[in-house]
Amino acid sequence: MIQQKLREKAKELLSNKTVDLIIGYGNWTLPLRTTPVFIRTPQGTESLVWNSFCENNLVTYLHKFSRFKVGIVVKGCDARSVLALSLEKRFSNQKPLLIGIPCQRIVDRKKLKKAVKGEILKAVEQGELLFVKGEDFEVTLKRDDFLYSVCQTCNHRTPLQADFLIGDPVEESPLLDTHPDVRDFEKKSPEERWTFFEKEMSRCIRCYACREACPMCYCAECFVDSSRPKWIEKSLSSSDLAFYHIVRAYHQTGRCSACGACERACPMDIRLTHLTQKLNQEVKDLYGFETGIQPEIPPPLATFDPKDEQGFIK
Ligand code: SF4
Ligand code: SF4
Ligand code: SF4
Repeated sequence: MIQQKLREKAKELLSNKTVDLIIGYGNWTLPLRTTPVFIRTPQGTESLVWNSFCENNLVTYLHKFSRFKVGIVVKGCDARSVLALSLEKRFSNQKPLLIGIPCQRIVDRKKLKKAVKGEILKAVEQGELLFVKGEDFEVTLKRDDFLYSVCQTCNHRTPLQADFLIGDPVEESPLLDTHPDVRDFEKKSPEERWTFFEKEMSRCIRCYACREACPMCYCAECFVDSSRPKWIEKSLSSSDLAFYHIVRAYHQTGRCSACGACERACPMDIRLTHLTQKLNQEVKDLYGFETGIQPEIPPPLATFDPKDEQGFIK
């Protein structure tokens, strides 16, 4: 139903030339996966899909198509990224048209794979249930038992500021208040947190998939690639790894929409959202600010007021 309406809207926008490109999700050859699709013709819209595996934050592609009139499919967190980028004047020439879909929460395929014995060959979603099939097993599972952690705590599933909303807004109530992993992390002493952080980061191979997947990482030259000045070596030493991750996390402070794309992209399963979600919580507690919710208010770390508290400056 939603998928059909989405195809119709995309077809209409391309037919009447309101946009010349639609960015959305299409089926992929593997089960539990979708792939980004870039559609230029009305006929091509038949390949658009919508289901619980539409996990990518497609907003990251907007940087590559800034010369096009783009219509883009967004979930709640993706729409928040667009709003955050608008505040940073990324769309001063042409704002993308947002085709918003209230999000049913997204299934974590790694959790699902761990729950069954053997390779998953087929997965079909029907309402709240997932029918999962392998060579010698067939199980029915509850969709909500396999959600991404960021989706369990999400309270902004209906895309804000969407130009078109496909489906009714959802009632905003997170399944969990703060994710238990982050709550446990907060209970640790500073030394224990550092140990956790170092252990996680020690697996990093510096492939930068986390950076590429994030819509908020769009610098023409990332600090890790800069040679003049040279901020960081190319090594996998603990100090270089810590430097990359600390700077990346702070660059996201007040800008992260909690989409989880960085963590999903990581081939080493590093729990990156521990850091980003913790920083999001700090920004909310200290400044009452959440990324991509208030259209006119810039992130706290992007503003300066002479009346700001300055007691920490000696
Ligand atoms: S973070 Fe929220 S809007 Fe984004 S995919 Fe998860 S539930 Fe949907
Ligand atoms: S840092 Fe990660 S969770 Fe935050 S916006 Fe970027 S990809 Fe999404
Ligand atoms: S995606 Fe994972 S392994 Fe690659 S740079 Fe990011 S944290 Fe490191």
